[in-house]
Amino acid sequence: MSSTEATNALSFADLGLSASLLKTLTDIGYETPSPIQAECIPVLLQGRDLIGQAQTGTGKTAAFALPLMEQIDVKLTKPQALVLTPTRELAIQVAEALQSYAKNLPGFHVLPIYGGQSYTIQLKQLSRGAHIVVGTPGRVMDHIERKTLNLDNLKTMVLDEADEMLRMGFIDDVEWILERTPAQHQTALFSATMPEQIRRVAQKYLVEPREIKIKSATATVAAIRQVYWQVSGMHKLDALTRILEVEDNFDAAIIFVRTKNSTVELADKLSARGYAAAALNGDLNQQMRERVIEQLKSGALDIVVATDVAARGIDVPRVSHVVNYDIPYDTEAYVHRIGRTGRAGRTGNAILFVAPREVSMLRSIERATRSPIAPLTLPSRADVTNKRVADFKASVAEVLNAEGLDFFSNIVSQIAEEQNVSAEEVAGALAMMAQKGKPLQIPGEDPVARPFAAADTRRPGSFGERDRKPRSDESRPRFDDRGAKPRSEGSSDRPRFDDKPRRAAAPAGDMVRYRIDVGRDHGVQVKDIVGAIANEAGIESRFIGRIALYDESSTVELPSGMPAEANNALKRTRVRGIPINMRQDEGRPDGAADGESKFDGERKFKKKPSSY
Ligand code: ADP
Ligand code: MG
Repeated sequence: MSSTEATNALSFADLGLSASLLKTLTDIGYETPSPIQAECIPVLLQGRDLIGQAQTGTGKTAAFALPLMEQIDVKLTKPQALVLTPTRELAIQVAEALQSYAKNLPGFHVLPIYGGQSYTIQLKQLSRGAHIVVGTPGRVMDHIERKTLNLDNLKTMVLDEADEMLRMGFIDDVEWILERTPAQHQTALFSATMPEQIRRVAQKYLVEPREIKIKSATATVAAIRQVYWQVSGMHKLDALTRILEVEDNFDAAIIFVRTKNSTVELADKLSARGYAAAALNGDLNQQMRERVIEQLKSGALDIVVATDVAARGIDVPRVSHVVNYDIPYDTEAYVHRIGRTGRAGRTGNAILFVAPREVSMLRSIERATRSPIAPLTLPSRADVTNKRVADFKASVAEVLNAEGLDFFSNIVSQIAEEQNVSAEEVAGALAMMAQKGKPLQIPGEDPVARPFAAADTRRPGSFGERDRKPRSDESRPRFDDRGAKPRSEGSSDRPRFDDKPRRAAAPAGDMVRYRIDVGRDHGVQVKDIVGAIANEAGIESRFIGRIALYDESSTVELPSGMPAEANNALKRTRVRGIPINMRQDEGRPDGAADGESKFDGERKFKKKPSSY
C-alpha cells in the first residue's frame, strides 16, 4: 500500500509509457497522471497482477487502459485483452476510452459487447477481429459458450468496477469467465471498495497481486458554502450558466475541469455566452499564466477555467465562486480547489457537479472534509427571468436619475402622440428593444430527469432518441441519492414490500408493475433482477421501482411509457439462465396473479415477500 504524496510530481513520461502513447496523451490533453494511474501503470507494465482500489472518477480506466495499449500486437487480430464491466454504459465508455488512447495505433480495434444489442451485429464484429473486447459478464459468457469469443490469445484480463459487478449480481458469471481464461495471463482487478467476496475472488484468481489503494486524506475546509448539483436532465454548461446567473454576490469564479482541452473548450463557450472568460492550463508559459491571473484580479476577466495543476496556489481575493465542473480525483484536490475562494476574510462558495456514478466521491469528500455538502436545486427558468427582470429594473432606475433624460422623455412623448399610443406602450417597446442582446426570458422548458434516457443517447434510433423531448410532467421525482424520499401515499393498503426503501420510487401512478418468471426458488436475489433490467433495457437502476420476490416469480415496478425496444429486450432477458418472460402484471399486488388460485396466493403471501 502506498501513499499518494510521493507520486504527485510524477509525469506520464516517468511511468515508462512509450513515446507514441505520450504523444496521444498530450493530444487528448492529460497533463499529469492521477494518483491511481501513477501507482498502477508501472506495475501493470511489468506484467504483474494487480488490485487497484480507488474511488469512482479517479481515472482507473486509463490506469489499466494505457498499459493495455502498450501490450497489443495490432497484427494479431485476436482478442488479447478482455475487460469486464458491470453495465453496458460502462462497456461503451471504456471502449471509447481505449479507442481514444489508440489514436496513434492504426488498425487497433476495440469491441464493446453487451446485452440488449443484437447478436448478429456482435458476431459480425467479433469475426472481423478485435484486439480488446469490453463487455458485460452475461453477454461475454454467452459468447464464450457459443464459441464466438475465443480467449486463447488472451494476455490480460481486467475486472473493472468489481464491487459494482458484485452488487448487481454478476459475481458468479465473472468467476465462470475467469475459470475459462488461459492459465497464463495477467489479471487486474479494480474496485472502489473491497468487500469480502471480491477479496475472495482476487485470492482465488490473481497471482501474487500488488495491492494499490488510494486513500483519501482528511482535511478541514474554511467557512465556505458548499453545494452540489446532481447532473441530470440538462447539460453541465447550461446548468452552470443558470447557476452563475442567479447566484447572489457573484464576483469572479474559477472553474475546474480535468483536461487542458476542456479548459479551452469551456472558456470559449462561456465567452460566446457573454462571459469574460479565459483558460488557464499547463500549456501557458509562466508569463501568460501570470497575465491571466492579473486580468482576473483587475476584473478584466470574471471566469478562469483551469486544470488543477495550473490553478495551484492562485490567490485572488475577488474569487467568490469555485465550480468543480468535473469532480476532482481525490479529496485533497477538492480541498485545494475550493481553497481558491473565501480568501482574505471574504465568504466563498464552492459548487460541485456530481454525475450519478460519482456520488460515492461526493460522500468521501464530505467525510474527509467533515462537512456536509448540500444539494443545490437548479434555478428554474422563472428564477432566471426574475433575476434578469430585477437587474433590468435596477439598471433602468439608475438611468432615471441621470442627467439629460428630458431629451429622451420628449422623444417618448412624441412617439406616443404620433402613434396614438400611451407612453407606457412606448416604454414597453423600448424595453423590448433594450433586452434584445440578453432576453429577459429564456426559451424552452425546464428539463427533468428521464428514466429511459440512460438507454443510449449515443446510438441514434435507440429509445433514448424517442424520449428526447422534455417531459412536461413535473411530478416525476427529482431523484436525490442522499436517501429515500417518503413513499407516495396510497401504498399503505399494499403489502409492506418496502421495508428498506432504498430507492426513491416514482409516485405509484407513474409506475407499471410487471411479473417475471424467476423467484426465490431459483436462487434469485433482488440485485440479480436489478442488474439484468438495468443492462438489458438500459433503464438506470435508480428508476427501477419496488421488486417483490416470491417463490416462483417476482414483480418489478418500472416507469410507465417504456419504449417497445426496451420491452422486447426485457422479454428475452434471462436471470441466472432462466428466461424471465416479463409481462405486465394484471393481478393484485399480493402475488395472487397469473391465475394462481386464491389459496395459492395466500399461502405464498404468508411467507412475507422480500424486497427493497
Ligand atoms: P474511474 O474509472 O476511476 O471512475 P475514469 O477512468 O472514468 O474514472 O475517469 C474519469 C474521467 O477523468 C474521465 O473523463 C477521464 O477522461 C478523465 N481522466 C482520467 N485520467 C486523466 C488524466 N490523467 N488527466 C485528465 N483527465 C483524466
Ligand atoms: Mg471506472
